[in-house]
Amino acid sequence: MTGTVSREQVEAVRSAIAGVDSSDAPQTLDAFSRDESLLGDFPPQLVVFPRDTGEVQAVFRACQAHAVPLTPVGARSGKSGGSLPLHGGVALSLERMNRILAVHPEELIAIAQPGVVLDALHKAAEAHGLFYPPDPNSSDWCTLGGTVAENAGGPRALKYGVTRDYVLGLEWVLPDGEVLRPGRRTIKGVAGYDLVGLLVGSEGTLGVATEVTVKLVPLPKVVMTALVPFGSVGEAAVAVSRVLLSGLWPRCLELLDDVALEAVRGRGYPFPPGAGACVIAEVDGSREEAALADLQALADVCTRHGATEVVLAQDREQRARVWEARKLVSPALKALKGHKLSEDIVVPRSRVPEAIERFKAVGERLGLSVATYGHAGDGNLHTNVLWHSPADKPRVDQALAEIMRITVELQGSITGEHGVGLAKREFLGLELAPAMIDFQRRLKDFLDPRGLVNPGKIFAPRQ
Ligand SMILES: Cc1cc2nc3c(=O)[nH]c(=O)nc-3n(C[C@H](O)[C@H](O)[C@H](O)COP(=O)(O)OP(=O)(O)OC[C@H]3O[C@@H](n4cnc5c(N)ncnc54)[C@H](O)[C@@H]3O)c2cc1C
Repeated sequence: MTGTVSREQVEAVRSAIAGVDSSDAPQTLDAFSRDESLLGDFPPQLVVFPRDTGEVQAVFRACQAHAVPLTPVGARSGKSGGSLPLHGGVALSLERMNRILAVHPEELIAIAQPGVVLDALHKAAEAHGLFYPPDPNSSDWCTLGGTVAENAGGPRALKYGVTRDYVLGLEWVLPDGEVLRPGRRTIKGVAGYDLVGLLVGSEGTLGVATEVTVKLVPLPKVVMTALVPFGSVGEAAVAVSRVLLSGLWPRCLELLDDVALEAVRGRGYPFPPGAGACVIAEVDGSREEAALADLQALADVCTRHGATEVVLAQDREQRARVWEARKLVSPALKALKGHKLSEDIVVPRSRVPEAIERFKAVGERLGLSVATYGHAGDGNLHTNVLWHSPADKPRVDQALAEIMRITVELQGSITGEHGVGLAKREFLGLELAPAMIDFQRRLKDFLDPRGLVNPGKIFAPRQ
């Protein structure tokens, strides 16, 4: 897909879908021109708000008929630019398809529309004593559809896995408007190709989810959270890896390095004085004594590897305070220098200490501040490059390229949860062999021959 879209083409789409709510008000177009990737402004020419699958189909068919690009949009919390209408055209917002259709406790499943905010699904499951584990830190505003498209993870992925591990079935509108129902309602089922596996994580490039059937698990009865300070990030990273080696299986092991601690301290969170890094450890289970024994064992491993203390959250409020501090890291880091570039690389767990050390060294050599925090337990690190002014940008780009190269050298992946989108398409070739990229491009071409659905994402434009 190249070239611009004329006003006449967009008007033709609008009249073809006259019954579907839409807007081209300047403030609406402006709001849909950005997401949390901070990659710039890419306004659509029209935003449509379908209320059911039939309306979604109509939008796809109209866009195909008039050669207008179409970009699916959830809550725009994405960090890789997935929902940015790079070539203008239509932004297809799923926000009005926001109903939880059913929770079936006897089947341990829930069925929901894509615009459901993830925390609403969490609460609906909990009302039945059940648990939907995927928990991106944006869960109070990101949508189920967005998490399906990005195969989102979160702190609990360490123990419970990511979105793909929970999606059993989908209702899916293909780029030509055809509706498919891949998957199933049962836990097992292997008839045919695993199309759900393909579509989850397809970043809005192969059509849209209009209904999602997810697996639920029993809600853990006990959850315990501890804050574990260390003198240095190196010690903390080694301790995380030793905890996992010791046979323990906490549900979260989140790491905050010295720069992250400093940033959050500035927002009034009292991390213990002298701490150069902290780990947030969380265990869960069905019995209090068992969870406490796990936490004690975890504390012993951490203490042997340099933890200066282990502070157990005493109640629900204290647990919430700890997680509030974790959620503050991203905005607090941005405030430190005014700009930041946030990565979500993942490396094999045993390489986490080496990765952190090498990323810091890149920052020191280039005179830039590099912060690392995130889901260290599963090797998924949010490495942030902080910067002041546009004059720093060439060095920031160099740091990013080096971080990507080091990640792949350590046998990691350039993105652990945010997706390739626009942000990392130039780096895809570092990780995937040409044959792998070519095969995926052919899949995309097969389903979307004119390249109208979310053009410019995942794959760099052909030379
Ligand atoms: C503060 C903060 C913390 C975050 N923490 C995490 C984290 O811990 N883990 C994590 O994984 N991510 C995290 N994210 C990133 C982001 O929240 C996730 O990627 C989320 O899944 C995006 O959901 P969304 O509804 O905002 O989708 P959007 O950003 O609107 O869209 C994301 C992609 O999904 C596509 N899409 C949207 N809806 C559909 C649909 N129904 N069908 C097909 N494609 C669709 C879009 O085209 C786009 O490519 C965080 C973001 C922020 C701002």
